[in-house]
Amino acid sequence: MFAKVATDAALDKTFDYIIPPKFESKVMAGSRVIVPFGKRTLEGYVLATTSTTEYSGKLREITEVIGDRPWMSNHILKLVSWMASYYMAPIELCLKAVIPAPIRNTNKGDGFQSRLYIESLIEDEEELANRSDLKLTERQHSLLSALFDEGAIPLAAFAEAQKTTPSTLRKLEDKGIVKIFEKTERRDPLAGKNFLPSKPLPLTEDQAKAKKIISDSIKQACDIEQPPPKPILLFGVTASGKTEVFLQSIAEVLAAGKSAIVLVPEISLTPQTIQRFASRFGKITAVLHSKLSNGERHDEWHRIYTGEARVVVGPRSAVFAPVSNLGLIIVDEEHEPSYKQEEAPRYNARDIAVMRANYEHAAIILGSATPSLESWHNTQNGKYIIASMPNRASKQMSKPNTIIVDMRLEALGKQAPPVFSKDLIDAIKRRLTTGEQIMLFLNRRGYAPHVTCPACGYTEECEDCATGMTYHIDDGRLRCHLCGIEKTCPSICPKCGSENYRFTGIGTQRIEAIAKKLFPNAKIQRMDADITARKHSHEEILARFRAREIDILIGTQMITKGLDFPNVSLAGILNADSALHIPDFRAGERTFQLIAQMAGRTGRGLLPGDVYVQTQTPEAPAIKFAATENFEAFAAQELNDRKELDYPPYSRFICITLKSESNDAVCAYAETLANQLDKIADGRYRVLGPAPAPLERIKKYWRHQISIFTNRTNLVLAYLKEIQKILPPPNGVSIAIDNDAMNTM
Ligand code: ADP
Ligand code: ZN
Ligand code: ZN
Repeated sequence: MFAKVATDAALDKTFDYIIPPKFESKVMAGSRVIVPFGKRTLEGYVLATTSTTEYSGKLREITEVIGDRPWMSNHILKLVSWMASYYMAPIELCLKAVIPAPIRNTNKGDGFQSRLYIESLIEDEEELANRSDLKLTERQHSLLSALFDEGAIPLAAFAEAQKTTPSTLRKLEDKGIVKIFEKTERRDPLAGKNFLPSKPLPLTEDQAKAKKIISDSIKQACDIEQPPPKPILLFGVTASGKTEVFLQSIAEVLAAGKSAIVLVPEISLTPQTIQRFASRFGKITAVLHSKLSNGERHDEWHRIYTGEARVVVGPRSAVFAPVSNLGLIIVDEEHEPSYKQEEAPRYNARDIAVMRANYEHAAIILGSATPSLESWHNTQNGKYIIASMPNRASKQMSKPNTIIVDMRLEALGKQAPPVFSKDLIDAIKRRLTTGEQIMLFLNRRGYAPHVTCPACGYTEECEDCATGMTYHIDDGRLRCHLCGIEKTCPSICPKCGSENYRFTGIGTQRIEAIAKKLFPNAKIQRMDADITARKHSHEEILARFRAREIDILIGTQMITKGLDFPNVSLAGILNADSALHIPDFRAGERTFQLIAQMAGRTGRGLLPGDVYVQTQTPEAPAIKFAATENFEAFAAQELNDRKELDYPPYSRFICITLKSESNDAVCAYAETLANQLDKIADGRYRVLGPAPAPLERIKKYWRHQISIFTNRTNLVLAYLKEIQKILPPPNGVSIAIDNDAMNTM
């Protein structure tokens, strides 16, 4: 027998090896093996076993098999190979995404952690008294007595407490009166947290209707005679109670003996989210996220792999969780761009989830209050089933009110529009007097994104990136938000010596400073990446906000999603135009989502909620429709526009980004590549560009883009593969192909 092996080395290729007879029963597709490679040995995975080989040279043998059973099921292997071809990524990178390093690197000291335990084999003083054969010293006697009634306890800790050494204790073991043994210690990411068990709530009418649709789908998933169920789009307004529907759907799947995966955007993987699942399902819940230690990640993975954990909650990488008997995948906030990985393999976890569910005959729910237009379109063309929840879960919760503030009017008679409109200031003041809480959003951290000298026009720019340096007032430094380079802000203009630096534009720090002046008695807290870089500070701030120790929470994206604070009755979007003016065909969609999600943070308790949207373009459709909270009308108009322009979902979008330290080299190659693609297009796809990327230079690299819109993705991918062989990028130019790209910057 032969095995096709993909090694961990970056070779983007598989190699044939002989399976020696002693391993024949053990080596299967998905096995992890060690193989000789040139003069080295490498680890890798068996992707398939065959009885023949096309390789005519001398084949070598697999030298070792790691683990007792395959690390990946056939379904996962199929997913890996689909991912490698659809996202044009080397197979070994896809395998690494599926089985992350802490699980792979068992030979590097990772792996299970075990501890030595000690336990007395003699019950009590009475039993000891009957053992005249023992002849214990006084010290040994007292050590043994200290173990009575203790059960098994960690050896090291016991030795320390008794001021003795493990070797002294070993002497008791030699006498056969204590047992010393190794036990695997689980590193539990939820250790020390107590979750009160929660019970299913009686469903609202909307929830019950949605649940019925989902139950039918789960039944279909459990019946292998039937085709795999279609994905369900759970379109539920904010606070409609999607989570309760998820929980009850999972319970149904568990009752059928199956497992479930819940994907949430990393940013909404808050303690509250984890609590909702852990409270309902207890120990069978596994949590995966980026803040876990390697040990925790390793142990959680194995709890899933052995079937001990049957509910997995995690961000995009959790879509590969090694659950067996998968019954359901849930993708919460399915529209979130963070499901897309920005480096190779550039996969979208939502789309991988849809594929995986199909391969494994599982049900799948995509949930959102503001679905992506791709998923929405799929409900219209019959590929997905829709389940709608148009009302909030409780009758006491009213729909949030959206108030559009025209900042052009605010700017009348002034040099520039103010940061806070008069209406917003009044609204905040009203909440402060009644003790209600407020959230303010701005998608820019730092104090001021532009630092210029009014005397000579000099601007502080990053040397390595095409962007200005942002001023941070807490430490007086300038930072580039693209590459992270920082320096002290000069006190005089380096060009003309003027002392009058001007800080323009606004970041969260500036909002904080202005808010402190406007509302001197309010307790104000900022939350952005500068603050949450400290471990636990994210959790801490949210806990203080919940305890009402904060009146006004000012933040970036991280405050817009998934948070459920019943006392928040006002949200403010300080500059809605910043999302609207990004150079991306999804700008309108993103703006609508932002407003709806921010509105969704308010009015979740007994208080009615308002969201104030400050904009200079109130007539933009995304803002107009967001004001009436009419997703369906927005989607209809947006889809109309997209259709006319042949943008997704009516075509697929492939974004090719080329970069090099030499602008000439990257320009020339981009030109050649685009011409070549265009020449053979023959109406089967559209080529736009090349053009400088919106972020034209990052970390010394010049960046150019070619955009392709097509309904023949596979054909274009095949062409791209061919063209790269015939016309490989010159030295120093690299190419990134992003299929179904979400980020065009
Ligand atoms: P969504 O995820 O749709 O924004 P949530 O799941 O956060 O909404 O639910 C909003 C609020 O409604 C939560 O406080 C939740 O506990 C409550 N809720 C959900 N379902 C019910 C129900 N059936 N009965 C009473 N309260 C509910
Ligand atoms: Zn100057
Ligand atoms: Zn930079």
